[in-house]
Amino acid sequence: MTARMSGALAVDFGDGYEIKRGDLTGHIEYRRPPRAVYACLRCGTQEGPVTGPLAVRRFVDTVRAVHATRCHPAAPITERQAA
Ligand SMILES: [Zn+2]
Repeated sequence: MTARMSGALAVDFGDGYEIKRGDLTGHIEYRRPPRAVYACLRCGTQEGPVTGPLAVRRFVDTVRAVHATRCHPAAPITERQAA
């Protein structure tokens, strides 16, 4: 089986800094939150965008599988006319 590129996943990791002191030590404060979007090259559908660190991580992990369940590339026009 040959793996083929079927979509483009774009992730913007945002712009933030880690808090070094106080109650929120280790927390990331975002000036620009992370963002992700997936564009399917087979059906032309775009999934997302989603924003926020947790949403982006979940999206990156699952979007290909999730999209595969609803990816329905339109039949080429010539085939539709022939049917
Ligand atoms: Zn698709």
